[in-house]
Amino acid sequence: MTLETLWIIVQGFALLFGLLFGSFMNVCIARMPEDRSVVYPGSACPSCGTAIKPYDNVPVLAWMWLRGRCRACKTDISPLYPLVEASFGVLVLLLFRHVVGDVANLDRAHLVAFVWYGWLLFGCMASTFIDLRHKIIPDEFSIYSVPVGVGGAALLGWLGYEGAPTWQQSVVGALVGGGGVAALIGAYWLVRREEGMGMGDAKLLAAFGAWFGVFPGVAAILLIGSVFGSIVGIGAMIVTGRGLKLAIPFGPFLAAAAVFWCFFGERVAFRYAGLSF
Ligand SMILES: [Zn+2]
Repeated sequence: MTLETLWIIVQGFALLFGLLFGSFMNVCIARMPEDRSVVYPGSACPSCGTAIKPYDNVPVLAWMWLRGRCRACKTDISPLYPLVEASFGVLVLLLFRHVVGDVANLDRAHLVAFVWYGWLLFGCMASTFIDLRHKIIPDEFSIYSVPVGVGGAALLGWLGYEGAPTWQQSVVGALVGGGGVAALIGAYWLVRREEGMGMGDAKLLAAFGAWFGVFPGVAAILLIGSVFGSIVGIGAMIVTGRGLKLAIPFGPFLAAAAVFWCFFGERVAFRYAGLSF
């Protein structure tokens, strides 16, 4: 087998990996806001409760051969399910190409980095859907992910991987990213008696700090997230003619900024100027 063939095959596995976790993401989006287990019981039709057979649980394809309807009761199944699966599959494939990039890099360090960043992207995308629908960000994707961020940074440092912060940078990132923003929210509340951001956003930034460090990491994500939020906010203002208080949660913009930073962060020049900490 040539190296080119091998590279195509491993990318196929990366895509499959993303599609399967995209399917699991649908379970998280539906169950986490209701505090239901994401493991047990298996998936069932939300309308008639019939358990979904393994062959009807194939990401994207099952929705297509079922023509978007439950096999038992024929109720429509939202196209959002296959869309989430396909989007996360493509995102994971792009991440694999970004982090591993070449068949020569197929070693432990790069594969650990791929899974580590993949965890973050999963949290970003799942928490976006949950925040848009329920105005909450599950702790699993924010504060509870901090140990995964710090542990991963430590492991990657030990493996000699250079595209991640050191564990010390990761710890400081989580503390300052989460704590600093929580303090800002507290100060804003004392002055204005209203919340600019929620504590869910602070906990999310703690996780981003663990993956990217304080500077430029968290600072850049806050800035980019604000730019994304302003663009959408101003757009919504023009379309609806109402003020900025449209109650759009900030979390999805932060999450989008973190995904952007994951792919383009190291290309930002000032990281090379030795300024990062
Ligand atoms: Zn049904």
